[in-house]
Amino acid sequence: GSTRPAGGACIKTTCPYCGVGCGVIASVAKDGTVSVQGDPEHPSNYGRLCSKGSALAETIDLDGRLLYPEIDGRHAGWDEALDLVARKFSETIAQHGPDAVAFYVSGQLLTEDYYVANKLMKGFIGSANIDTNSRLCMASSVAGHRRAFGADTVPGVYEDLEEADLVILTGSNLAWCHPVLYQRLAAAKQKRPDMKVVLIDPRRSMTADLADMHLAIRPDGDVALFNGLLAHLARSPALDDDFIRDHTSGFAEALEAARASEADIISLTGLSQGEIEAFYRVFETTQRVVTCYSQGVNQSSSGTDKVNAIINCHLATGRIGRPGMGPFSLTGQPNAMGGREVGGLANMLAAHMAIENPEHRERVQRFWNAPVIADKPGKKAVEMFEAVADGRIKALWIMGTNPVVSMPDADAVARAIRNCPFVVVSDIMRETDTCAYAHVLLPALGWGEKDGTVTNSERRISRQRPFLEAPGEARADWRIICDVAARMGFGEAFAFQSPAEIFAEHAALSAFENEGARDFDIGGYAGLSRGKYDELEPFQWPAPARSVYPSPLPYSRRRGEGAIDVSTLSFMQGAGEGQERVIRFFANGNFYHPDRKARFIAVQATITERINVAYPLVLNTGRIRDQWHTMTRTAKSARLSSHLAEPFAEINPADAAELGIEDAALVRITSPHGEILVRALITPRQPRGAVFVPIHWTDQFASNARVDALVPSVTDPVSGQPALKHVAVSLEPYRAA
Ligand code: SF4
Repeated sequence: GSTRPAGGACIKTTCPYCGVGCGVIASVAKDGTVSVQGDPEHPSNYGRLCSKGSALAETIDLDGRLLYPEIDGRHAGWDEALDLVARKFSETIAQHGPDAVAFYVSGQLLTEDYYVANKLMKGFIGSANIDTNSRLCMASSVAGHRRAFGADTVPGVYEDLEEADLVILTGSNLAWCHPVLYQRLAAAKQKRPDMKVVLIDPRRSMTADLADMHLAIRPDGDVALFNGLLAHLARSPALDDDFIRDHTSGFAEALEAARASEADIISLTGLSQGEIEAFYRVFETTQRVVTCYSQGVNQSSSGTDKVNAIINCHLATGRIGRPGMGPFSLTGQPNAMGGREVGGLANMLAAHMAIENPEHRERVQRFWNAPVIADKPGKKAVEMFEAVADGRIKALWIMGTNPVVSMPDADAVARAIRNCPFVVVSDIMRETDTCAYAHVLLPALGWGEKDGTVTNSERRISRQRPFLEAPGEARADWRIICDVAARMGFGEAFAFQSPAEIFAEHAALSAFENEGARDFDIGGYAGLSRGKYDELEPFQWPAPARSVYPSPLPYSRRRGEGAIDVSTLSFMQGAGEGQERVIRFFANGNFYHPDRKARFIAVQATITERINVAYPLVLNTGRIRDQWHTMTRTAKSARLSSHLAEPFAEINPADAAELGIEDAALVRITSPHGEILVRALITPRQPRGAVFVPIHWTDQFASNARVDALVPSVTDPVSGQPALKHVAVSLEPYRAA
C-alpha cells in the first residue's frame, strides 16, 4: 500500500528537475487542485524555488501521458506485455549471451528504480550493459573523482559556496542551470560584498551578471588555465607543502606536466596575460576558494583531465574538505548522484564498488545471492548505441529518457533504435521521439505519483513522495523491473513489496561493504522500517554506520528566508566526529585510495582543433532557464514556454553581419552529421566565431531543431562522456526554396 494524502493534505517531496534537489511542499485542495511551494525547512533551498520548480503544478495534467501498456501500437494487458519483455530478453540471452541485451536508463529514475535495474543486469543477467543518460551529464566528474580521491565522492556542500571568499564557476551557467544555488550565492554575496565570483565560460551567460571577473576562455582551454594556475601556485606562498606531503602523491609529475604548456598559455586559453594574472592572483591570495564546475567541464573530449586539473589546484593548496573550500561538481539531473550510489553505470558495481575488483564482485554476488556477476565493464552510452547499430545488442530497454533527441549523432542513434530487433520503452509520455521506435511501451509513474528517494549534488538524499493517484494503468519503474525479473526466473531476489524494502537493501549492501575498510556509506539506514522510510528527512551520506536513523538532523534548526547565517554552522564543528564526517569529506586527508592519500594527476593541455574552412564556427549546446531536457513536461506550462518560445541560435553581431543574418531570421546550421533550422538571436554575449543552441527542442515541438543531430560521437577517453560543447558547424541565412 502507499501513503497517499487525502484531499486537503500537504506533502513534502523533492523537485524532479535539476541536481540542486529543492524541497517542495505539494498541497492538494479538496477539489483535487494541486499547488506547490518551496519547503522552508529543506536544507537545499530553504523555501526557494526557481521558475521550473514553481511551475510544477502546471505540468502534472494527463495530456500526452502513456496510460496503458502497448505492443506494436495496440493496447495490451500488463501480463501480456511483461511476459513478452521477459521472454524476448531471456531468448536473446540464451541465443547470443548476456551482452546482447542492454538497459539505457535515466537520472530521472529514483534510487530504488536504479537499484533493481542494476541488480537485474549485473547480478542476474550477468552483463554490465546498463548505462544512463547521466553519462552525458557527469561521467567525467565521476572519473576525475575516482582518479584523485580513490572513490566517486563530492567533497563539498552547498554551504561552502556561502562561506567561500572566492567562488569560481567554470563551465557552469549557474543562473539558469542551478537557479536556486545561484540565488543562494547571490544572497551570500550581497551580504558579504567582499566575496568574489569568477566566471570561466566562452559565453557571457546570465551568470556573468553576478561575476566580478568573466574569463571568456576558448572552448576546452580549461586544462591549460588550471595547469598554469598549478605552476603559478608552486611558485607562491599559497602552496601547502605539509598537506601535499602528508595527504597526497604525484605532485612532482603533475607540476612537470603543468609547466609544459605554460609558454603557450595565451594561445591555449584565448585569454590575455592580464586576465590570467589577475585570476591567478585572486586564487593565490584567497584561502576560502570553491571551484564549481558543470557541463562546460564534463561534456568534453578532455573532461576528466579538466576535472583533475581543477582538483590538482585545490590539493596543492590544501583547500579541500574545509568550510568554504574545495572543488565541487554540480550534477545536472535530479538523481544522477543516486544512480552513482547504486552503481547504475556500465563501469561501476554497486555501493561505489569497482567492477574490476574481484573481491568487490565476490562481495556483491554473495550479498545478492546472485547466480552470476558481471566481471567487466559494459557499454557506455555512446558505445551502447553503436553496439545497437551494428547488431551486437539485440534487445534494448530504455527507461525514462529520450536518446533519439539527447544522444550525440542523434540521427544515427534513431536509425540504430529503429533497426534493433526488440525495443522496450518505459516512460510517462506516449509521444516522445524514442517511443515511436518501441515494440513495447510500458507506462511509468511520474512526479507526484512516484515514491522513493533522490540524491542531489551535495550527496543529500531526499524523499519523492506521492500525492496523486497512479493514472490509467501506470506502475512504478521498480515494480515493472521486478515483475520482468520474476518472469525471467529471478522472483526470489526481486520480491520487493515497496520502495522502502529496496532502500533498506541498498543501505544494507552499503553497510555490508563498509565491513571492509571504508567508512563511506549510507549503512546507518540498513533495516529502516517502512514507517521510518516514509518519515525520512533529507540527510547527507555517508551516514554514520550502525547509528540506525541518525538524528536529530541539525539542518532543521536553520530555516527561514535569506542567506544562511554561517555562524549557526558552529554546532556542526561541535557535533562530534561521526557527525562532522557526514558533513564534509577530506578535511584531514583520509582519502579512499589504499594509502588514504589523494592523487595529483598529470594532465596535458592540448586542444583538438575542430573547425575548418567548411565548418568555421564552434557550436556550444546547453540548457535554458525555463525548459527541462526534451521538454516532455515543461512544455506543458505556458508560463515556462513564454520565456524563450522557439529554438534559437545565439550569434555574435559581427558574425551575423558578415554572414548577412538578421535578428530573428531563420538560419541553417550544418555539421557533417546533419542540419537544423533555428531563429537567430544576435547578442554580444556570444563570442565571435561561436554559436550557442539550446538542447531542448525536439521534432515534437519544432521541425529540424534537434541540435544533437549535429554533434559527432566524440567522447572523453577516460569517462566516455560525449563532447557536446565543441562542435564544428557552418551557418547561413535560410532561404526557402
Ligand atoms: Fe527544481 Fe532545480 Fe529549480 Fe530547485 S533549482 S526548483 S531543484 S529546477
